[in-house]
Amino acid sequence: MHTNSIIELNPYAYQKNIDFLKKTFGKKVKISSVVKGNAYGHGIPEFVTMAYRFGINHFSVFDVEEAKLVHATLENKVTVLVMGLVQDEDMEWVIKNNIEFFVFDKTRLNKAIKVAKKLLTKALIHIEIETGMNRTGFDNNELNHLIKSLKKEKEHLVFKGLCTHYAGAESIANYYRVDKQIKRFEEAYQHFCKNDLKPEIKHTACSAASMMFPQTRMDMVRIGIMQYGLWPSTEVLVHFLNAKKIKTDPLNRVITWKSKIMSLKNVAIGNFIGYGTSFLAEQKMKIAIVPIGYSHGYSRSLSNQGRVLIHGQRCVVVGTVNMNMIIIDVTNIDHLKKNDEVVLIGTQNNLTISVASFSDFSNQLNYELLTQISKTIPRKIIE
Ligand SMILES: *Cc1c(COP(=O)(O)O)cnc(C)c1O
Repeated sequence: MHTNSIIELNPYAYQKNIDFLKKTFGKKVKISSVVKGNAYGHGIPEFVTMAYRFGINHFSVFDVEEAKLVHATLENKVTVLVMGLVQDEDMEWVIKNNIEFFVFDKTRLNKAIKVAKKLLTKALIHIEIETGMNRTGFDNNELNHLIKSLKKEKEHLVFKGLCTHYAGAESIANYYRVDKQIKRFEEAYQHFCKNDLKPEIKHTACSAASMMFPQTRMDMVRIGIMQYGLWPSTEVLVHFLNAKKIKTDPLNRVITWKSKIMSLKNVAIGNFIGYGTSFLAEQKMKIAIVPIGYSHGYSRSLSNQGRVLIHGQRCVVVGTVNMNMIIIDVTNIDHLKKNDEVVLIGTQNNLTISVASFSDFSNQLNYELLTQISKTIPRKIIE
């Protein structure tokens, strides 16, 4: 087990985020907690355990490996929905365990029907419609054939949901495209209804769509990034603050990532620090070595840029991020010792390193940075 660092999840922050989301969406809209990408780096088993405590009982994942983790943690107490990949060899497990899944093409549908027949049961399916993202989903010209198949095989299928996904609702630049997608989805829904096929629910919104286009909330929203306390983009946050005429961000970051000082040393003026020549000590310096590097998900693009908190002060990464270590400039901090706490993401005293500011430096999205954090780092829910 990796012990160089630890990730803590804050249940109070999570509760506040869920309260905020519930209040925003109202009682009629169900929240599906999206936990793909190892729960955006938070760790699936720990994260879903915490979410369940606050009343979340619907989880969306990308593939069966993730579905198995949620299922192993919370068993049949919750609904698990696979939005992406189900390998043929996993279809039996999925159907046997009442795992719901997106059906986005004919081969997937046929496989589901075949396995459900074999097991003498029904597959719980969500039909995904292609509305303009051009990724996965049934095209318009496939709908009639699809409707025929669904009717013919209704002994083996439960039409749980009709869904789609938007191509970038977090940016106003995509307004036109998303608006068109919303209309296409509604047309597809009407087409099913006219043919006496009604899904139990309709769902289309991710975090950004749910905030920018309230009509996309429908029966359920699939919320990833916002439940973790981060906004899909600054645009969405600003849009929200302006609409509400408020100034403070209502979301709270759930994750804290911490390590400790492994070693301290002084460097004389005129020396390069770390590999190569990317950092020159232009004064006498004191540096701290922290046992975290790109192999743990601390991005190399934070070389000479990343910030960490030590003794409640913001300190800079100097030189390149190594595989297992970073070097921090601590010249201005007195009384440092080995094992003193280093916060990579989170709060120490009154200062905070948010994932967002961390990613502004590295030009990466919150999503990418979080999901890069290594699975081997222990996660714990704080009390
Ligand atoms: C990732 C994902 C979501 C959640 O997106 P957020 O922006 O994190 O809320 C919703 N739906 C689908 C299909 C997704 O892949």
